[in-house]
Amino acid sequence: MMSNNNYGNWIDGKEVAKGEFNYTSFNPIQNKPIQGNFIEATAEEVNFAAACAAKDFMTYSRLSGSRRAEFLQMIATEIEVLGADLILAYCSETGLPEGRAKGELGRTLNQLRLFAEQARINTWQMPSIDLAQPDRSPMPKSDLRKMMLPLGPIAVFGASNFPLAYSTAGGDTASALAVGCPVIVKSHPMHAKTSYMVASAVVRAAQKTQMPSGVFAHLNSKDHQVGQQIAVHQSVKAIGFTGSVKGGRALLDLAAQRPEPIPVFAEMGSVNPVIVFPDKLKHELAQIVTQLSDSIMLGTGQFCTSPGLIFGIDNDDWKLFCTSLAESLAQRDTQCMLHPNIKRGFDTSRESHLSQPEVSVLGTNSNTTNPNQASQTLTRVNAVDFILNPELQHEVFGPFALMISCKDWDELHTALEQLKGNLTGSIMANESSLNAQLNLVNTLQHRVGRLIFNQVPTGVEVCASMQHGGPYPASTDSRFTAVGHDALLRWVRPVSFQNFPESLLPQALQSANPLGLKQRIN
Ligand code: NAP
Repeated sequence: MMSNNNYGNWIDGKEVAKGEFNYTSFNPIQNKPIQGNFIEATAEEVNFAAACAAKDFMTYSRLSGSRRAEFLQMIATEIEVLGADLILAYCSETGLPEGRAKGELGRTLNQLRLFAEQARINTWQMPSIDLAQPDRSPMPKSDLRKMMLPLGPIAVFGASNFPLAYSTAGGDTASALAVGCPVIVKSHPMHAKTSYMVASAVVRAAQKTQMPSGVFAHLNSKDHQVGQQIAVHQSVKAIGFTGSVKGGRALLDLAAQRPEPIPVFAEMGSVNPVIVFPDKLKHELAQIVTQLSDSIMLGTGQFCTSPGLIFGIDNDDWKLFCTSLAESLAQRDTQCMLHPNIKRGFDTSRESHLSQPEVSVLGTNSNTTNPNQASQTLTRVNAVDFILNPELQHEVFGPFALMISCKDWDELHTALEQLKGNLTGSIMANESSLNAQLNLVNTLQHRVGRLIFNQVPTGVEVCASMQHGGPYPASTDSRFTAVGHDALLRWVRPVSFQNFPESLLPQALQSANPLGLKQRIN
């Protein structure tokens, strides 16, 4: 922290603040600003951060995987050292409980350590070797070898709803650093202090492990200007983003208009369809009500995997299910949202949804004791109307879900065919009944990134087989994941070396294989 309770930007290993504009963060439970001024980065500072990242890209990307692993491990250690102060900042800036803060911190540390291990073992380089065939007829074949190389400096935009795991030193930053890309973080204004503290830990880790000083920068900003300047900066070679469809799309369009367009990996909106089968309701109605009610309310519904659309065949059990789920939600206490802006966004999209003539309210709780608390709401629509109205697929970010009543399997299938891209699709069924409706799985798998059987969509495991991303608008590139080991593939590109002597090849491609990698040969 600088003098007078001012917080600067971290650039080239130092805290700097030449700007005139500043802002505070906000405590949603107390409904008042938090003391401390965050000095917005100037245009000059943005340029400087990008220049430092570009200057140090070569040095950083050429370090051994073990050295980068050391850096990532040290970031985890330095974040742990922040201890209770970090948890306090997180809770006061988000209104989320301590248990959630600690859980997310644990996940963030695990992610850093997971990517440290990925950096150390270098498997992401994926070496492939096709040996020369000088005697091949009619044309000789050259020696060709291909591997992945890092793209260059990456700009990271974190989400408001994951101040640690999808933010400053979250999955995007950790995976980019693992493969040798310097990172410039555009701080999220809703958790400015949490982000500043984590950034200071990253800078300390860089110093302790003797990384080049341009490897990481953290820029304060409360409006789009700084983010847009970073996105179009010629030294930035890709963008990682988590947040709204509006924000992700704006950055995607901006990146496409650059003289040198760059990839944008944005993870955005999702309404996470759930299909509940009749036989499941007949035998396990109460259990499914509890599961879905918990999932809708988890984190005040502020999860990209929150279940927003629930499909079923309209019979007596389905009617009872709709009423029971509505009652369960209405009986729960209202909860605080992350920030007044998120609450405003929830109210606006909820109102817009309720204004659709074909939608009816099944249950809600409007007993709020604080302006930032959300009224959880369950609505209902007939599938025939859902099919005709794409507005009903808009994400209402918060504790909100829509029940879609289908007259038969054909109508349910037609409704699924209208779905836009989503992160997840869940099916609650018995194995035999799903086997009789396998076309639903076939349809759903082309619209989501993760198919779930008899579990709710909330809860994202960080592991190699996780796919967190889906067709647009869930993400801007459904071929990649934002979570798990493969997240680092967003920041690398393949390069071939033709006819190179062994001694001048990168180690990963040498026939002597000094890194001990699994090489694909011929
Ligand atoms: P956001 O508004 O999209 O902002 C995310 C980051 O991008 C912020 O740092 C923001 O900074 C920046 N940004 C947004 N629009 C931009 C633009 N046009 N140009 C340049 N930078 C831009 O997301 P959020 O603040 O996390 O939450 C707002 C809404 O996003 C929520 O109400 C919810 O609907 C949705 N959301 C969805 C998910 C999901 O995973 N599906 C997760 C979180 C949020 P500045 O505003 O300072 O420029």
